[in-house]
Amino acid sequence: MQIIKSISEFNKARNTLIGSIGFIPTMGALHEGHLSLIKTAKSSCQNTIASIFVNPKQFAPNEDFNSYPRMLDQDINKLRSLNIDILFIPSEDEIYNKNSPDIIYDNYMFDILEGKSRPGFFNGICIVVAKLFDIVKPTDAFFGEKDFQQLRIIEKMSSDLNYNINIIPCKIIREINGLAMSSRNKHLSSSEAEKSKIIFNTLELGFTMIKNDTKVVEDIYDILNKKLKQDSVIKLDYLKVVDYNSLIEFSDFVSDNFAICVAGYINQVRLIDNITYLYSEDSSI
Ligand code: AMP
Repeated sequence: MQIIKSISEFNKARNTLIGSIGFIPTMGALHEGHLSLIKTAKSSCQNTIASIFVNPKQFAPNEDFNSYPRMLDQDINKLRSLNIDILFIPSEDEIYNKNSPDIIYDNYMFDILEGKSRPGFFNGICIVVAKLFDIVKPTDAFFGEKDFQQLRIIEKMSSDLNYNINIIPCKIIREINGLAMSSRNKHLSSSEAEKSKIIFNTLELGFTMIKNDTKVVEDIYDILNKKLKQDSVIKLDYLKVVDYNSLIEFSDFVSDNFAICVAGYINQVRLIDNITYLYSEDSSI
């Protein structure tokens, strides 16, 4: 595995690669969720490149950029054992020092769900992902369904900006109790991590209600909000039942293809999760 920090060195290495290139952008503190993306890329592409870059542009001033977990040595060991081809770990200057304008890209999904709670978040993500796509020039890029809205936005951006890259969605990897794996989980105490299972239990309840033909959105919200409040451990930001493709919230009735998206805080730690259903799939839990 080559570890590369500069764009010029990266370009040299990139030019020697032949065949398909699977790319997995991350912010590090790698867990089994990240590793599953890497394994999927390895199994389908001739070359695999991962990046680790904690992107300042996607954190608002009041957010956790400084305390975001950074565990580079452990990350390198994990990636070495998976035998990927290149790990790209650019500095902030390397990514942002060129005085070039940030990409101008916007779509309506920037302002809903996570975007409503975190203004500028998806703008920051699209800026860095576009820059990384331009540098890495992958044939395939792998994104987790854990960040379902991010996945939808990257799919749309790639299509709108004519990136010729296959965006490959990867299933959510969970802890045994159902909590979706996340780098931020490292900030939870073991009792908080245990109590956080209420999030996935609530999503599963919503999924079952809808599959059992409870389609009135208000009824679903009533039950799910009550369940989340059973134990005051989670400070809910939002829980929304939305269309699977457009992410637009259902106003009256849920239709066949849906996603239930939730975000909240446990003791300052922001957690997001979702459960989805696409007609013709069994389920995408
Ligand atoms: P991050 O390091 O949080 O930016 O995540 C890098 C990539 O890993 C993104 O595509 C995430 O959606 C994906 N990812 C993070 N957690 C999980 C998980 N629990 N299951 C599947 N993918 C995940």
